[in-house]
Amino acid sequence: MVRIRSLSEQTGCEILAKAEMLNPGGSVKDRVAAHIVGEALAQGRLRPGGLITEGTAGSTGVSLAMVAAAHGCTCAITMPDDAAVEKANIIAAYGAAVQRVRPVSIVHPDHPVNVARRTAASTPGAVFADQFENEANYRAHLQTGEEVWRQTRGRVAAFVSGAGTGGTLAGVSVALKRRNPGVRTFLIDPPGSSLYNKVKRGVMYTAVEAEGKRLRNPFDTITEGIGINRLTANFNRAIVDDAFRGTDREAVEMASYLLRNEGLWVGSSAAMNLVGAVKAARALNRPGAVIVTLLCDGGHRHLSKFHSPEYLASMGFTPEAKGRGLEFVE
Ligand code: PMP
Repeated sequence: MVRIRSLSEQTGCEILAKAEMLNPGGSVKDRVAAHIVGEALAQGRLRPGGLITEGTAGSTGVSLAMVAAAHGCTCAITMPDDAAVEKANIIAAYGAAVQRVRPVSIVHPDHPVNVARRTAASTPGAVFADQFENEANYRAHLQTGEEVWRQTRGRVAAFVSGAGTGGTLAGVSVALKRRNPGVRTFLIDPPGSSLYNKVKRGVMYTAVEAEGKRLRNPFDTITEGIGINRLTANFNRAIVDDAFRGTDREAVEMASYLLRNEGLWVGSSAAMNLVGAVKAARALNRPGAVIVTLLCDGGHRHLSKFHSPEYLASMGFTPEAKGRGLEFVE
């Protein structure tokens, strides 16, 4: 857990972040991969030498490839080809098979999740990790929430994060509310995602409706790993008090701000989480309140996209946070 000094000074709250990029596989998803594979092994559904499949934007693939190797299993990952290529390269380095597919909706048979499910079904002894629906994901993050409680010595006033599968927000929110029902929990949602509406109004399109409305095309957001248009079993567990919307511009500016003011190099979802922390500080309006979020992964695996000046310029972004305050957070 690290204190984000500049954001704490500027908001008047204590803004703390768990440095999940320091996990051995480089992201928050190590915990999830360890639990999913651990449970499958304990239940006898997976044995050493068996195959683990998953459809993922990348981080879960890296973590599963690492955990599979450590358990003597094989791993096959399907990912959309618009996700940063670094993640595909890391997965392959761990010895896993990587298939990159055109980004399509979840109702399409070629969606990475559907490809991974089919591969497991047609391979004897294979297990589909199923991070969106497998509640081992949420259970892994009950532990994350307990760590937040312990590391803040029970002083945590609020937790905020984005959601992809929803496992993080679900596990942490449930664990913290068990400890103290007064802890406030917030979602920060990127462009193109329906989770904001789910929290604010209880409205969530089904996958088919989202497809009909052409929600969440690949260009909705440049953030990776967060935002979704269907209600997953893991998100369904989350206890969320309120939600904020975050823009790509805010995430880009926050990443630049953290580099220049903190020497902190993080990925797009971590940058968005800290945008959420600033919004939570403003919403709470309680000087000194402890607000916690996660640094989901580091900048290294985003060099070709979120941390490429050329890519950002091509998307219309020229970050200019150096030496400035937090005016870029709306
Ligand atoms: N950040 C990154 C980099 C991710 O890969 C993910 C998972 N898709 C998330 C954040 C969101 O976490 P969760 O799936 O627990 O909602």
